[in-house]
Amino acid sequence: SIPLGFFGGIGAASKKGILVKGSNYLEALNDVKYVVFDKTGTLTKGVFEVDSVYPVNGYSEEEIIKFAAYAETHSNHPIADSIRKAFGDKIKEELIQDYNEIAGHGISIVVDGKEILAGNDKLMQKEKVDFYRNNEIGTIVYVAYDKQFVGSIAISDQIKADSYSAIQTLKRIGIKKTVMLTGDSKVVGKRVGELLEVDEVHAELLPQNKVEEIEKLDASKNAKDKILFVGDGINDTPVLARADVGMAMGGLGSDAAIEAADIVIMTDEPSKIATAISLAKRTRRIVW
Ligand code: ADP
Ligand code: MG
Repeated sequence: SIPLGFFGGIGAASKKGILVKGSNYLEALNDVKYVVFDKTGTLTKGVFEVDSVYPVNGYSEEEIIKFAAYAETHSNHPIADSIRKAFGDKIKEELIQDYNEIAGHGISIVVDGKEILAGNDKLMQKEKVDFYRNNEIGTIVYVAYDKQFVGSIAISDQIKADSYSAIQTLKRIGIKKTVMLTGDSKVVGKRVGELLEVDEVHAELLPQNKVEEIEKLDASKNAKDKILFVGDGINDTPVLARADVGMAMGGLGSDAAIEAADIVIMTDEPSKIATAISLAKRTRRIVW
C-alpha cells in the first residue's frame, strides 16, 4: 500500500514552489546529511555583468568585447548574456563558420576564417595560447584571436539574497557538512565560500570532477547518510544523477538540469532546500 502521507507531503511541497517527482525522493530527503551546491546560478544569481575590459597587443576594449560577443553568440551560459549585452551591436551571423562550446572551458568559434577563443585560463592552456593571467576578483574571460591573446574581460555575479541564511538554516536542522563545487576560479570560489560560510569549497572543476567530488564524499561517509546535490546548469546533469537526491533550480535552470533532477525549486531560492528537508521530516512523522 502507498502511505498517504507522502502524497500530502508532495502536495504541501508544491504549494511552497517545490516540485517533488516522487514520494521516494521525499523519503530520501529525511536522511540527507550532506548538501553539495553548485555556485553559479544556485548560490549566486547567475546574472553576470561586465565590470572591466583589459585589452593587450594594441587591441581596443570594443574589439575585445566584439570578439567575445561573436564567440558567445549561441551560448546559454550566463556569462554569454553579459558579454552580448555589453556588445549591444548586431552579430553578423553569416560570418560565423564554425561553433564549438567546450564544457567548463568556454567557446571556440570561426568567424570569417579566423578562430576566436573566449573562456577561462584552462581554455587558453588547452589551445596553447600564450596569455597573461588577470588577477582581478571576478570571473575572467580570456579572449584570443587567431591564437593570439588579445585581452580579458572581468565580469561579476551576485550572491542570492537568501543564500547565507539558507546555509545557516541547513546547519541548524542537522546537516553535517555543506560543500560548494564550482567550475569558476579558486579566487572567486574562496571568496563566495567565505562570505556564505560553506564548510568546504572545490573550484576549477570540470563536470566530471564534480562527480568525482561526490564520489569521494560518498566513500568517506556513513552508509545511511545521504548526499543532496543542488545545481542549475546543463553541466550539472551528471552530478544530479550521481547524488542520492538531485535538486535543480527551476526558474533560471537549464531544461536538462530540471529533467535530471528529482526535486525542482521553482522559485530558485536556496532557502527552499531546508524547507523541503523539514517538510520531508514532518511527512515521515504522519505516515502510517
Ligand atoms: P559553475 O560551476 O560555476 O556553474 P560552469 O561549469 O558552468 O561554472 O563553467 C565553469 C567555467 O567555465 C566558468 O566559470 C567559465 O570560466 C568557463 N565557461 C563556461 N562556459 C563559458 C562560456 N560560454 N563563455 C566563457 N566562459 C565559459
Ligand atoms: Mg552552474
